[in-house]
Amino acid sequence: MRIGIIGAGQLGQMLGFAARDLDIECLFVDPSISPPARMCGKVLQRPFDDKSALAELAENCDVITYEFENVPVGALQQIKGNVPVYPPVDALRQAQDRLDEKRLFERLDIPLPGYRAVDTRDDLVAASEALGLPLVLKTRRLGYDGKGQFVVRTGSDIDAAWRTLGGQSLIAEQWVPFDYEVSSIGARNADGEVRIYALTRNVHVDGILQRSLSPLDAPPLETQAADYVRRLLEHLDYVGVLALELFVRGDALLANEFAPRVHNSGHWTIEGAATSQFENHLRAVTNMPLGSTASRGHAGMLNLIGEIPDAARTLEDAYLHDYGKKPRPGRKLGHVTVVLDNAEERDARVDTIDKIVNWSSCSHVDTA
Ligand code: AMP
Repeated sequence: MRIGIIGAGQLGQMLGFAARDLDIECLFVDPSISPPARMCGKVLQRPFDDKSALAELAENCDVITYEFENVPVGALQQIKGNVPVYPPVDALRQAQDRLDEKRLFERLDIPLPGYRAVDTRDDLVAASEALGLPLVLKTRRLGYDGKGQFVVRTGSDIDAAWRTLGGQSLIAEQWVPFDYEVSSIGARNADGEVRIYALTRNVHVDGILQRSLSPLDAPPLETQAADYVRRLLEHLDYVGVLALELFVRGDALLANEFAPRVHNSGHWTIEGAATSQFENHLRAVTNMPLGSTASRGHAGMLNLIGEIPDAARTLEDAYLHDYGKKPRPGRKLGHVTVVLDNAEERDARVDTIDKIVNWSSCSHVDTA
C-alpha cells in the first residue's frame, strides 16, 4: 500500500511515522527544501498544485490525502477520477470558505455565532448594526491561526478594519465572550465506521494554539460536541479525520470552524489515546477498521514555538516531538506531551513545563 500525501510538514511527518507502523509507504509533494516529512518517504519538491507532481502521485499511489487545508481544490478535482482522494474534495471546498462553512453548520443545526457576509464597507457597517459590537472581521479564505482577522471593538475601528482587510470577500462574526475553547476530533472510514476522541480543551495565545488538555470533565459538552462531529462526518460522507473547533459559554457550544485533516489539538493522541489521530486517519483513508479512540490517561500538549530550548530535551516523563525545522521566531518547531493519572497533576505539570519552555517569549506564529 502506498499513500500520496500533499504537504510534508509536521502533520505529514506524524502521518509518515504512523504509516511506517502500518507498513504503508508514503510519497509526498511539497515545495519546501528539507520539509519535516523528508525522513518518512520520497518528497516531490514541487508546488502543491503542480500537474505533473499530482499525476505522479495518482499513478503511483493507492490513495491520496492532504495535511493542510489550502490545497487548491481544482488540482484535486483533476486527479480524483484516477485515484481516491480523501477527505472528500467537497468537504475541503466547504472548509476553505468561512461563509460556506457557516452555512453548513446552519444546515446541520450546529449552533454558531451570528455572522454576515461582508463585501463592501457598507456591508460592514450594516453587519455591525445587525450583530452588535465587538465583532470579528475575517477573510473568507486562506485565514489561519488568527491571521486575516480584525476585531472591531467600536464604531471608530471600522475604517481601520476596512483598510486592513477590505477588497476581498469577508465575513463579520459576533464576538463570543467564551469561557474556553474546545475541539472534538473524529474519524470515519469509507464503510461508515465512526470513532470520536475525548473532548480537548484548547488555549490560544494571539490566535495560536498554545496548549491542549484532554479529557476534560464535562460530560454534557462531550456528548453534544461528538454529536455535532458525527453530523458533519455523515453529512459530508467523510473519510479521514476531521477536527471541529468550538467555543464554550456556560452549558452551550458554538461552532467556530472545522478542519478536514489531522489537527494540532489532537497531537496528544499519539501518547494519550489507544490509537493516534494519525493512525486513524490512515486507517480511514485506506478503509481499514478504525482503532479505539479511548484515552490512556490525562494528556496535556504544549506547542514549542520559535525555539526548542535545551531544557525541553531533558524533561522528566514528557514526550518531546522535534519536527526538525529551522528555528525562526514564531515558527511551530515541536511539541511536548505529558500523560498523567489525573487532571490536577496534568495541569500542574503542563504549567511547569510551560514556564520552562517559556512560551511567553514567542509572539507571532508562522506555521510554514
Ligand atoms: P480562527 O482562525 O477562526 O480559529 O480564530 C483564531 C482564534 O481567534 C480562535 O481560536 C479564538 O481564540 C479567536 N476567535 C475567533 N473568532 C472569534 C469570535 N467570533 N469570538 C471570540 N474569539 C474569536
